[in-house]
Amino acid sequence: MAIVIQKFGGTSVRDASRRDVVAQWVVKAIEAGDQVVVVVSAMGRRGDPYATDTLLDLITDADLTPAAERDLLLSCGEIISAVVLASHLRRQDIPVKVLTGGEAGIITDDNFGDARILEVQPKVLQNLLQDGVVPVVAGFQGRTVEGRVTTLGRGGSDTTAVALGAALHAAVVDIFTDVDGIKTADPRIVPDARTISQLDYDEIFQLANLGARVIHPRAVEIGRQFSVPIRVRSTFSESQGTLIAPGQGTLDPWGHRDPDHAVTGITQLDHLMQFRVTPPPAMHKDWAYHLFMSLGENGVSVDLINLFPDQVYFCVPPEKTQITEQTLKDIGFGYEAYDDRAKVSIVGSAIQGLPGVVGRVMAAMAQSQIEILQSADSHSTITLLLHRRNMEKAVAALHKQFHLDEEVPKT
Ligand code: ADP
Ligand code: ASP
Ligand code: MG
Repeated sequence: MAIVIQKFGGTSVRDASRRDVVAQWVVKAIEAGDQVVVVVSAMGRRGDPYATDTLLDLITDADLTPAAERDLLLSCGEIISAVVLASHLRRQDIPVKVLTGGEAGIITDDNFGDARILEVQPKVLQNLLQDGVVPVVAGFQGRTVEGRVTTLGRGGSDTTAVALGAALHAAVVDIFTDVDGIKTADPRIVPDARTISQLDYDEIFQLANLGARVIHPRAVEIGRQFSVPIRVRSTFSESQGTLIAPGQGTLDPWGHRDPDHAVTGITQLDHLMQFRVTPPPAMHKDWAYHLFMSLGENGVSVDLINLFPDQVYFCVPPEKTQITEQTLKDIGFGYEAYDDRAKVSIVGSAIQGLPGVVGRVMAAMAQSQIEILQSADSHSTITLLLHRRNMEKAVAALHKQFHLDEEVPKT
């Protein structure tokens, strides 16, 4: 008997008719002879009564509420969802038991709001499976060694699912969502984006880390670490979705790929704060050291750093604006802050060392008359910082430039 993990996202469990579809997937796996563990997200999206953002909106002083208390609040969304889905499954005569993340054995550090899993104790789930029971686990949460409730960061139910898959040696972790797999771009921006049939962990990690919210980056990291096959697929269609597994990369085993199809996907991240910072006139030459140590000590992690002898540009997420400004004031640095920035990235293992890729990125921006404010690159990514108003146009232009609407020929 194979163990399969089935994770259902917020839109998949939003209302009773959708939860009936979810129940059918569980029945299907049981009928195929699999042992099933179900992981759920909170029901629906902002505005729906128990969705994560709705719960967050209940505390008007979200910034003042201690992170540990915010986690207590947010964890309820997934717990409600698990109990409600379990009641649907019971109506189908499926023996089920609801567990919080902590009860399911997920032990985390105490970084409330963005906790990391330290270990998964699989005994409780193993015993339930042995007894023929389907555990329905509240995603997105765990508990500290002392028993305090934590959450795993936005989108973290995927991480719950993959972590349980790793601990239980699952044959596959199915991430059921509202799109039929990982696509060459966010279909909300590029409606004709293609579904990628297979991917390796590295490329999807880059896509997820740079904004594609279809899967949580930490889920991919855990999947890679423990070689857990992950399939991202639609709750509402039979399509095969995207398989993320070892050796499923877009390069052939010798590292070749058609240069015309070197890019795997385009991704974007909305709402970044860009800072231009200058040192106080009298400060010694180690000003950058002083600056970044101070930011780090205040828990600010910076991104897209372009350092020059007399100034530095960098970005922070919007929720870090206040603490960044306070730190800069405290250490006497000058700054300008811009709140209307977004970043757009191309991802592809094959772009490393391939001449002409940057030229094509620039061509796409020039043809669309989009100003580039900053850039960064790694062996498999090129990132552009842009005005927020140009984000969608840039994603569409790059998608076209790299022929991502075409089927990739086999190498
Ligand atoms: P769930 O609630 O099921 O976890 P999410 O909203 O977290 O769903 O993720 C699914 C959404 O991710 C899609 O509706 C889609 O708009 C968005 N998305 C962003 N980039 C991509 C991509 N490259 N491929 C597919 N979906 C993407
Ligand atoms: N409900 C949580 C969120 O909205 C976790 C998840 O959906 O994966 O971020
Ligand atoms: Mg999600």
